[in-house]
Amino acid sequence: MTTIENDLRDAIRTIPDYPKPGIMFRDITTLLGNARAFRRTVDELVQPWAGSKVDKVAGIEARGFILGGAVAHQVSAGFVPIRKKGKLPHTTVRVAYSLEYGIDEMEMHEDAVTKGERVVLVDDLIATGGTAEGAVKLLKQMGADIVAACFIVDLPELGGAEKIRKLGVPVRTLVSFD
Ligand code: AMP
Repeated sequence: MTTIENDLRDAIRTIPDYPKPGIMFRDITTLLGNARAFRRTVDELVQPWAGSKVDKVAGIEARGFILGGAVAHQVSAGFVPIRKKGKLPHTTVRVAYSLEYGIDEMEMHEDAVTKGERVVLVDDLIATGGTAEGAVKLLKQMGADIVAACFIVDLPELGGAEKIRKLGVPVRTLVSFD
């Protein structure tokens, strides 16, 4: 295990049984509040694309906004919010995505990404991959060229990263929890 992975793992707080019994909630607010860990996270997440052209960073509500904004600044790209339905004021494109129990919908502005733009998708954590899969579908619908999907935390047992790779999207994660 690399030092950076250990350092970032130590900066993440785990809350057992939140929001319900049996869930180990990986709370990244402690990492965000640690200046050194936050900076290293942003640097590491974008490291494979340093120097290559990225037009937009798309962040998934809500923790993906915090991270995505910093990543967009780092790679000199624009930022695009992907939100739960009903929150965006202009005309949107919408997609249904699967949650642990049932489905929900997420959307983005119809003019937020134009065909052929190179987009990096960002969220804090990938578990089953249902949320990221919905975002990938939305971006593909817009004709985006998805450069990669980046997450601080991977829960590999839940198979989400594999699911996204099978869609042809490279996945970058920095810390794994069993
Ligand atoms: P999934 O769609 O199953 O990949 O779930 C990913 C989304 O749910 C991300 O936006 C995460 O913020 C949140 N999430 C799922 N599981 C956890 C967990 N154990 N700890 C913290 N956030 C989680």
